[in-house]
Amino acid sequence: MKFYSTNNTDLRVGFKEAVFNSMPQDKGLYMPVSIPRLEDEFINNLDQYTLPEIAFHVAQNLLGDDIPANDLKAIIYDAINFYAPVVKLEQNVYVLELFHGPSLAFKDFGARFMSRVMSYFLEAGEKQLDVLVATSGDTGGAVALGFLGVPNTRVTILYPKGKVSQIQELQLTTNGQNIRALEIDGTFDDCQALVKQAFTDAELNGKFRLTSANSINIARLIPQTFYYFNAYAQLLKEGINKIIFAVPSGNFGNIGAGLLAWKMGLPVEQFIAATNVNDTVPEFLKTGIYQPKPSVATLSNAMDVGNPSNWVRIADMFKDDAGALKSLISGYRYTDEETLEAMDAVFKQYDYVVCPHTAIAWKALKAYQAKHLATDTAGVFLSTAHPCKFPDVFTQEIADKIEVPTQVAELEKKERQAVSLGKDFEGFKGYLLNNA
Ligand SMILES: *Cc1c(COP(=O)(O)O)cnc(C)c1O
Repeated sequence: MKFYSTNNTDLRVGFKEAVFNSMPQDKGLYMPVSIPRLEDEFINNLDQYTLPEIAFHVAQNLLGDDIPANDLKAIIYDAINFYAPVVKLEQNVYVLELFHGPSLAFKDFGARFMSRVMSYFLEAGEKQLDVLVATSGDTGGAVALGFLGVPNTRVTILYPKGKVSQIQELQLTTNGQNIRALEIDGTFDDCQALVKQAFTDAELNGKFRLTSANSINIARLIPQTFYYFNAYAQLLKEGINKIIFAVPSGNFGNIGAGLLAWKMGLPVEQFIAATNVNDTVPEFLKTGIYQPKPSVATLSNAMDVGNPSNWVRIADMFKDDAGALKSLISGYRYTDEETLEAMDAVFKQYDYVVCPHTAIAWKALKAYQAKHLATDTAGVFLSTAHPCKFPDVFTQEIADKIEVPTQVAELEKKERQAVSLGKDFEGFKGYLLNNA
């Protein structure tokens, strides 16, 4: 498959180049030149396949000429080695749990697949790949655990001191091996600025093969389509073939992957874009005006994005049919107060605990269903992270009900290792050069 830039459809690169560059020079995003439509035979019989089987079939259709079948299969079976179950909460309401990977967030799908693809493309004898990543929490954990032990790669994570949750910090700082954590005395924006400056520094680029593990990388988007197909497969087993998905959205990569799955032929009745007060997209869907704004801090902080990067991909997929976009996606936005109410309501109604991001998707789904009653249609909201990652937002009663996965208990036994740095570039650069 060739990939073009959303800013210049004449520009064509192979998958390898798209993965290592993350972003084309013209600052567009890479998209497949053509989106293959999967056979009806496959879609109608999805319930016959496991998640890795589905993932392999979908990936092969997109990347079949870039990675030979056996190698692609090995990458998929290694990367997608955990479940994504659909759990019924009430009639027509299901939750798709995407937090069963190593970092307990859906970003594991993207990070694990991308790390293995990058490692695969690094032919023997090539320079080690140095991944620099700034994180406000979830991305860093997924990238660290995704690249942990992957040959020929090294990851340097920058996180803002005191601004990530305890479990997130453990996920960043207890890995060792090819992962190093830098605790920056500054904000997430300071961390991001350091990484950006490193990419433009001639000396660093001469010495290291630098890459970002950015969420806009096409190798993170593709594996996120897998669980949409797999959710449909699980509902088919219950005799349900009409589905709506409600997606907690920030940078719009997750819902973008859902729309890509739809373009590949997955029959989805409706997508619901659920946001916090960073509501650029719900506003656009209401008014037709796309007006990015500065981000606002909320309880669902992984969705605090005022100018979602992946929106250009969605716009690109629907550039010939803006009407289809409007009828396929509905937008909802909620305040922190409404988020807390939703977390509480989910707990009371189902004896089930959701993280703040997930709570927003549940609330949006319920609001949509209240207006569009369809007893034959299952509503599925995506649970993007395990609630134990956000211990401070819950009441004691709910916090006590959270079952902490065993891997978290293991983390607590490990030693935290982080290097503390200021937010000045010279200090960061000196660290990189002195710790080559
Ligand atoms: C990253 C993240 C999101 C937002 O996903 P996007 O793909 O950026 O829209 C939602 N919830 C959690 C828990 C996340 O980590």
